[in-house]
Amino acid sequence: MDLWYTENHTDDVQFSIKVDRQLCTHQSEFQRIDIFESKEFGRILTLDGYLMVTEKDEYIYHEMITHVPLATNPDIKKVLVVGGGDGGTVRELCRYNHIEKIDMVEIDEMVVSVCKEFLPKLACSLDDKRVTIYYEDGMRFVRNAPDSQYDLIIVDSTDPFGVGEGLFTKEFYGNCFRALTDDGILVNQHESTFYDSYANSMKRAHSRIKEFFSTALVYQAHIPTYPSGHWLFGFASKKYDPRTDLKADWWNSLGLVTQYYNTILHTGCFAIPNNVRNTLRETYK
Ligand code: SAM
Repeated sequence: MDLWYTENHTDDVQFSIKVDRQLCTHQSEFQRIDIFESKEFGRILTLDGYLMVTEKDEYIYHEMITHVPLATNPDIKKVLVVGGGDGGTVRELCRYNHIEKIDMVEIDEMVVSVCKEFLPKLACSLDDKRVTIYYEDGMRFVRNAPDSQYDLIIVDSTDPFGVGEGLFTKEFYGNCFRALTDDGILVNQHESTFYDSYANSMKRAHSRIKEFFSTALVYQAHIPTYPSGHWLFGFASKKYDPRTDLKADWWNSLGLVTQYYNTILHTGCFAIPNNVRNTLRETYK
């Protein structure tokens, strides 16, 4: 008997992975949480049926969402992660000894406990002494955050519907701007442009971020298990341009071993193809 996990990438496109077994299924207050075991991708976390991470390709997403801002400003000491309950982003942040404080605001405590049990390779740093986890809505948390509190905010959210919807609003981005220091950086998972449904939410998010930040760019990565395999991240800053402010020598001197990110790719990932450029241009019509 064959068992397959299938996600609808659009109404007419499906993506399937053959799985050996389902390791757990829970219905939390916010969403359905499942973990599957597969031969090709290792363990897979899905929320409400949508693929969040697989053990095989999670490093691409988590390295790109953290090392790009960290290599741009070596003085990042206080970080807020919004979402990120699997722990992959916090794991990458904890590799930097100079980071002093990492707050993570995750709406769903059950995601964290499931990931600690079934995805220890991702959740391994959630108990680091610099990390404080707040279980509440990230939108409300940032609304109540004091001014100039963080050097970096990473929005490691689900898609812009359901519980994640508020994390793509103008109010949320405005509060992130306020909660960031004068040289603060906001990085967010920014969906993709290949399929129309994702392109529309990406365009909306980009134009909202652009209203607050003098620098608002997108950068790309190839993530095999995400819709179309082509994924974008947003980079917004009050001061830095990641293409010219990259501190390559400093970052390389840290000796961090990575599987995807490097300082040559850092500049290259901002060189976006024409289909994405055209989509972004439409944002300002
Ligand atoms: N890499 C993933 C992706 O884009 O597919 C994201 C992974 S991470 C598991 C996303 C987390 O964001 C989930 O654990 C979810 O519970 C959390 N989340 C969604 N909406 C949230 C909100 N409003 N406030 C805080 N956390 C939220």
